[in-house]
Amino acid sequence: GLRIMINKDESVEITWKNGETTLLPNLWLRDNCACDVCRNTQTTEKLFQLAQVDVNLMPETVDLIEDELHLLWPDGHRSVYDGSAIRALTIPQTTHLRLWSSEFRPQQFDYGKFTHNDSIAVDAIENFLSTGTILLTNAPTTESLEYLTPRLGPLRETVFGRIHNVVVDSTGYNVASTNLELPPHTDLSSYSWPPSAQALHMLVNETEHGESIIVDGFAVATQFRNAHPNWFDRLCYTPVPFRIFDDNNETFATQPIIQLDTGGQIAGVRYSNQTMQPMNPARTGLTEFYRAYHEFSTRITSDQAKAIFRLEGGQILLVAGHRVLHARKAFSANANRHLQDAYFEHDNIRNHLTVIQRR
Ligand SMILES: [Zn+2]
Repeated sequence: GLRIMINKDESVEITWKNGETTLLPNLWLRDNCACDVCRNTQTTEKLFQLAQVDVNLMPETVDLIEDELHLLWPDGHRSVYDGSAIRALTIPQTTHLRLWSSEFRPQQFDYGKFTHNDSIAVDAIENFLSTGTILLTNAPTTESLEYLTPRLGPLRETVFGRIHNVVVDSTGYNVASTNLELPPHTDLSSYSWPPSAQALHMLVNETEHGESIIVDGFAVATQFRNAHPNWFDRLCYTPVPFRIFDDNNETFATQPIIQLDTGGQIAGVRYSNQTMQPMNPARTGLTEFYRAYHEFSTRITSDQAKAIFRLEGGQILLVAGHRVLHARKAFSANANRHLQDAYFEHDNIRNHLTVIQRR
């Protein structure tokens, strides 16, 4: 069974069956009381507010009854905690990320099965969350990205539209609407929160060349971190300006190239050579930033990092917008090539995964 030790001034120490221990601060215990007074019974939302109790709050008594923790507080309030529920909180729930390089190809899933078969959708979304990309095959060759919203949606709109057509267009606002090579980049770098998922739907591809290229930004950033930790830090802590605009719109954000989460893990890569703006030259450390950025750019654009394949008509490439960079080779201008893309958000995709798994 469990054992408890009371450091009554600050916390209750609980010893698990395998001998590991966890300190439960008194305020944590009071804050997480699950009783019907402290929680709304209809919604399970917390009603108790921490500021209602003294910061030096201590329990009067602490008892362990059949792996349940029973506390009596000075005001007479009683709290009961399930030991196994507390134990579950101590085990981090993280998605295992599978990093990859040039030899990788996205796992393929049939479009019809992905949209209609829940267990295929679960496989596909789990694969997407782990590798940052999947390929849907046998998709329509007409506008269809709206049909993905039950699995991925809602669509994330920006001022530049909802579903974007990428065709050769001499009036287009970015290099995508030419037949030129498009170097590896993440989209909407000029937003503080760029779309975290992007679907690239090839409707027609009758061109020569124009192969699609994807790069695992997390894999490159991890190798970069191991090889050059100081330069890696430089890219995490130096804000970089990005701008995307057209005749009617003007978007601008200043953010680092590499974003860390609060645990120091790589959480996002923002890389867009074509939309990066001049940095303040008076900024301290700019020379070192540029050395770091040069090395990172060399790695991002290296053959070793690029997975290259041809995206055919009726295929949809889904990429994690904060992780996987996309690119394409130049193609012949006179042949028919029509790509549509739309954006989604990871939070919504994970929501659909959880809801399907609950069924
Ligand atoms: Zn309570």
